Amino acid sequence: MPDHRGAVRALRDAASTGDPGRSAAVAPRDRARPRVAFLGPPGAGKGTQARDLAQDWGIPQIATGDMLREAVAVGTPLGREAKRYMDQGALVPDEVVVGVMRERLAQADAARGFILDGFPRTIGQAEALARMLEELGQELEGVVYFDVPEAELVRRLTGRRVCRQCGTSFHLASAPPAREGVCDRCGGELYQREDDSEVTVANRLAVYARQTAPLLDYYRERGLLQPIAGAGSVDEVRAAIRQVVERQ
Ligand SMILES: [Zn+2]
Repeated sequence: MPDHRGAVRALRDAASTGDPGRSAAVAPRDRARPRVAFLGPPGAGKGTQARDLAQDWGIPQIATGDMLREAVAVGTPLGREAKRYMDQGALVPDEVVVGVMRERLAQADAARGFILDGFPRTIGQAEALARMLEELGQELEGVVYFDVPEAELVRRLTGRRVCRQCGTSFHLASAPPAREGVCDRCGGELYQREDDSEVTVANRLAVYARQTAPLLDYYRERGLLQPIAGAGSVDEVRAAIRQVVERQ
């Protein structure tokens, strides 16, 4: 995960000398460094794919969940507000999420491309994103939708274990660590996130269906929606994403 506290400081410095009201021409499309969002329910595998593909494409993975969890861990005012919602399995309000994303997208490493992971989740966020990108002289090129059956999502979410140190996800059934409770990558301790418990999972999926599903229509109407079958292996899903994004 990038150190966005340092990056926020850098942003503040840049903002004091920049001209935030200026609207630049839209930057040309670069298939090797796309500007895309990954959309899909919790447990669809967006995070794993975004991490791997961000590395392949040399662009940042911008994950709202990671940024919000760090704000919660640090205990910032924004983090304390976000925690109230996250503990209930509810969505964090648009104005909180949009504020975090606005700061992140303006950072230098996002200028040539990005993968948005977990954002936008509502029509309001999608509209805010379009305005933010216009201010930056950019536009969203595609929205990859991870289509996964609900029963498979429940199975995946309750079996997930996450490393406290590096954030790598494992799964008790499909991707277990070599040693129980220990991260293969860094030796850190694995734990079950509060929001992966069964009650919270059911609530999260219901919230997702109600509040986020309309985004499919929003992006379909704009010709940006690119559905992929998200129930396959990690390699199969990655190949499917590359195929739709790189031929845009
Ligand atoms: Zn680890």
